[in-house]
Amino acid sequence: MTESNFLKEHNGRLMWHPMTSPQDSVAQPPKIITGAEGVFITDIDGHRVIDGVGGLWNVNLGYSCQPVKDAMAAQLDKLPYYSTFRGTSNDAAIELSYELSRFFEPDGLSRAFFTSGGSDSVETALRLARQYHKLRGDSGRTKFLSLKKGYHGTHIGGASVNGNANFRTAYEPLLPGCFHIPAPYTYRNPFDESDPERLAQLCAAALEDEIAFQGANTIAAMIMEPILGAGGVIPPHPSFAPMVQEICNRNGILLITDEVITAYGRTGAWSGARLWGIQPDMMCTAKAITNGYFPFGAVMLGARMIEVFEDNPDAKIGHGYTYSGHPVGAAAALACLAEMQRLNVTATAAARGAQLYEGCLALKERFDVIGDVRGGYGLMIALELVSDRQTRAPLDGRRALALQEACYEAGALIRVSGPNVILSPPLIMSEADTRGLLDALRVGLCAT
Ligand code: PMP
Repeated sequence: MTESNFLKEHNGRLMWHPMTSPQDSVAQPPKIITGAEGVFITDIDGHRVIDGVGGLWNVNLGYSCQPVKDAMAAQLDKLPYYSTFRGTSNDAAIELSYELSRFFEPDGLSRAFFTSGGSDSVETALRLARQYHKLRGDSGRTKFLSLKKGYHGTHIGGASVNGNANFRTAYEPLLPGCFHIPAPYTYRNPFDESDPERLAQLCAAALEDEIAFQGANTIAAMIMEPILGAGGVIPPHPSFAPMVQEICNRNGILLITDEVITAYGRTGAWSGARLWGIQPDMMCTAKAITNGYFPFGAVMLGARMIEVFEDNPDAKIGHGYTYSGHPVGAAAALACLAEMQRLNVTATAAARGAQLYEGCLALKERFDVIGDVRGGYGLMIALELVSDRQTRAPLDGRRALALQEACYEAGALIRVSGPNVILSPPLIMSEADTRGLLDALRVGLCAT
């Protein structure tokens, strides 16, 4: 049996894939990606396509980022692992904490807690939020608030603040004391409000209302994505995040921005917090911190957290991961930080994002199946697919998947998630690559 036949024979059978069912993995075997360069990926049959997904919103610098590969290889040779648990550290992690504290200075964040990925970063922030209040003697503050449609990873804490039933129901009961506020999602919302600014006010009022109902002194933190990502790219009106920050501050509630997608340039700003002009108490990051080349994350911490934890001799952090501050991940992150700033990826994200967004709006004029196009902030865009524009009934899942297939045949991998096509390509896309992605989308839409 050739190696390729061996891989095809076992594809989808012995490995349970995230976010799919074992039966679906057998019935529609996953594409076997065997190579990549620049913004292109190649499958086992030699089919080469633009990666419209950017790995999973993480390969911001593409697949051929040599400085990152070299830094990882050099670190692997020098020190392949050492822990940062009490009593030891490693040089790469120390250097990274220094660089990150400079990088996130405008966000008011100057300490890092390292993790192995996004879900770990969320769990870390939730746990540290509870500990913060306990250290201050305010131990009644244990609850969490978040937005419906928000995505915060898949650990039990993250799933509990998650605002999408698909990631919750099968795993209930979840953490008690988690409450959800309507998201500023103009296309569908309980207020029937399509004006983004007015909707932002209504959602902020709902937040105030929930805080009053729960009692402010029972709430530890509010966690939110500056632009909701996996829930279907929902950018709020620019007034929303500042209103949330003001409400949280006024009520003694910590604000956590979940920037697993939005940190490091994807929105056209270096962080979602900076995009909206807010200063969170904690920021969860992961994904692009290592360009997807190593599982790694960092929770960045602001002045309130620093003061309470660093001034208190009893502030023992009973939390951490074997791979917190992994030297190879830290080396990758250091090289990524240098490379993303050298290439000024915020500028390309903004320029290519505007091109892609305009192109998607033009496709909406032509194809009735596109009910809504959301984006306008860098390279994160969603097309919401409907079977009827009037009723906004979501498109049948099979047809949405057929579109994904047709686009693949036409030269681009796109991701269909629920009723949405999500576009989150690498930030180093050229103008021609972006045109190529739009062409493949158009051909795919014609064929389905
Ligand atoms: N938070 C957000 C906003 C995310 O988008 C994701 C992943 N898509 C996560 C958390 C979880 O990250 P991971 O899959 O690395 O655990």
